[in-house]
Amino acid sequence: MIVVIRPHTPADQVEEVIREISLLGYTPSPIRGAYQTVVAAIGDETTHASLESLNALAQVERVLRVQKRYKLVSRESRPEGTVINAGGVLIGGGQFIIMAGPCSVENEEQLMITARAVKAAGANFLRGGAYKPRTSPYEFQGLGPEGLRLLEAARAETGLRIITEVLGERDVELVAGTADILQIGARNAQNFQLLIACARSGKPVLLKRGLSMRVEEWLLAAEYLLAHGNPNVILCERGIRTFETYTRNTLDLAAVAIAKQESHLPVIVDPSQGCGRSDLVKVLCRGAVAVGADGLLVEVHPNPAEALSDGQQQLDPESFRDLVDSLDPFVRAAGRHL
Ligand code: PEP
Ligand code: MN
Repeated sequence: MIVVIRPHTPADQVEEVIREISLLGYTPSPIRGAYQTVVAAIGDETTHASLESLNALAQVERVLRVQKRYKLVSRESRPEGTVINAGGVLIGGGQFIIMAGPCSVENEEQLMITARAVKAAGANFLRGGAYKPRTSPYEFQGLGPEGLRLLEAARAETGLRIITEVLGERDVELVAGTADILQIGARNAQNFQLLIACARSGKPVLLKRGLSMRVEEWLLAAEYLLAHGNPNVILCERGIRTFETYTRNTLDLAAVAIAKQESHLPVIVDPSQGCGRSDLVKVLCRGAVAVGADGLLVEVHPNPAEALSDGQQQLDPESFRDLVDSLDPFVRAAGRHL
């Protein structure tokens, strides 16, 4: 770290800062100018105490960090990129991955119709929430264990792998018993106890970006999963909250490009939560391919007008098939295949 001391600080006060830097475990290397001293503090910022607390000293002008706060998720630690095996499907390699299905698992007929349709259109994973994080307690909360049973039945019939959300620590074991990938939702992206419990489950985890999370915070949340022993993490950009009202959220494709640069983890884009409008999903999928995403998470419902959650953003099976068919040239242009 770099500690900048205020101009014209008396020598004894400069020495006080140097002493504190040593006490905190760093090797101080002062650079003394005519008016101002800057101290390079040499040490591993990810294992030593942060020197930011030195801002508390009146003679300290600024403390600058040199290293990134995340280590295990950073691209430097694995320049070649990570390929994750989720139930036999590889994510982050040459294949562009499609996860699709209803926002919520509602009943057997709804789920089976959707599963068959997305399978026929070329999806690799069936998505569907058995546990739903709803803004209002009066809205449909999901079928719970019955929803998990229906997802298992859909996998048995279609061969699609399952991705489904886990809402709380106490459900991790149960949901991990069904899921090929555990989804951590936007509202839980900084629920660190849940992240640790999901890491310990040993299942691959898809980590959504929180509604107002900076990329650094998102990567640090992923760092929790790796630091607790689970290397199988997929990042998912699903839109952030901004002042815009024409879309439900603002899909941040720049963050996808940054996440791909900064981290070796695969990145998936969820255009459905990302814009909240079925009419924009197709073009946003193309954008996701173009910025280097490794796959998509798309909501599909046999009859969106009757959906128990997120009807406005779900595609019907026909539109989904058209989306996948029309995506093929874009995926090829990006050097991938479906
Ligand atoms: C969902 O995928 O249906 C969902 C609730 O996602 P998010 O956590 O991104 O809002
Ligand atoms: Mn949804």
